[in-house]
Amino acid sequence: MMIPFNKPYMTGDELYYIKDAVARGKISGNGYYTQKCHEYFKQNIGFRNCLLTSSCTDALEMAAILIDIKPGDEVIIPSYTFVSTANAFVLRGAKIVFADSYHNNPNINADTLEELVTDKTKAIVVVHYAGVACDMDKIMGIANKNGLFVIEDAAQAIDSYYKSKPLGAIGHLAAFSFHETKNIISGEGGMLVINDEFFDQRAEIIWEKGTNRSAFFRGEVDKYSWVDIGSSFLPSDVTAAFLYAQLENLEKIQSRRKHLWDFYYKGFQELALGGLVKLPHIPDYATTNGHLFYLICDSIEQRSELISFLKEYGIHCVFHYLSLHKSPFYEENNQTKRLIYCDNFADCLLRLPLYYELDMEDQRKIISLINDFFNKR
Ligand SMILES: *Cc1c(COP(=O)(O)O)cnc(C)c1O
Repeated sequence: MMIPFNKPYMTGDELYYIKDAVARGKISGNGYYTQKCHEYFKQNIGFRNCLLTSSCTDALEMAAILIDIKPGDEVIIPSYTFVSTANAFVLRGAKIVFADSYHNNPNINADTLEELVTDKTKAIVVVHYAGVACDMDKIMGIANKNGLFVIEDAAQAIDSYYKSKPLGAIGHLAAFSFHETKNIISGEGGMLVINDEFFDQRAEIIWEKGTNRSAFFRGEVDKYSWVDIGSSFLPSDVTAAFLYAQLENLEKIQSRRKHLWDFYYKGFQELALGGLVKLPHIPDYATTNGHLFYLICDSIEQRSELISFLKEYGIHCVFHYLSLHKSPFYEENNQTKRLIYCDNFADCLLRLPLYYELDMEDQRKIISLINDFFNKR
């Protein structure tokens, strides 16, 4: 029996809500279930304002438009992240300035940011890798001092906290993902969170193809017209209905995923204490949300050996990002840069299977095989 790296979890309620969405006879964007999801996030997580999108990539692109990125503006981004974090801003002409990770944590190193700020810098984009918070007080401090926007790429960060504030509620804007690899899913899907009311009106316009359609349907204007740039960032209400079924099960899904994460963490304590492998570092200000569990190997060779070893037992483990500052697209247009900690995570980080339906027996097997692998060396 194969143990896959990921298996999307269906709660069983998805078709019920999709059927209802269909019966309501309106399945385009901003319908009944879209509103239900917005309400859920406001009431249960405490977001001030939010808009569902078709992906986290879309939400990041909306953020780049909202903060008015123009050609030549600089945006500081961690190099250890997914391409969309950078692409959303490159699409608007921004120059990307990559920042390094911490030595013991893939997140953007807040202590290196000040030296990257120039008079062209417009924003800092942070990524809460594995759902573990970045050092937000420090980052917001630097941003406020220099008049910069902060965008949280919270794609992996649902139900996780920084000093008891929900991730996604701290920067000016934040982007979530409901891609099937995340904790709460709708196949493809995402959300823009708007924490600064300055962006409320324009966000809705950009969301609705640059028109004031939403205001028109609320009866606030007497005709709807083209008023700004925009695109079709709204998901279908069928997608929102699927997402709503998942949201109703958030607590159940999260408690299982966090339990699996804790069990891995305990299962590798001895290896970590013996210095044989490194485990995720969770700063005092952060929580875990069971999004992903990783180990840090000694070298890329050791990681490849471990991947092959586990594969022989039918266990599928995968590495994660390649340093964006070394990608063909970036290197073609920019000077080379050395970001040693980011490169280290690109080479040595290995993600283990973690999904709702991973059973304890399989997880025990993974833990015991990995212990064998390191103890035999
Ligand atoms: C998954 C992910 C994205 C992209 O999300 P989509 O919904 O697929 O667009 C962006 N950033 C990070 C950090 C991610 O993990």
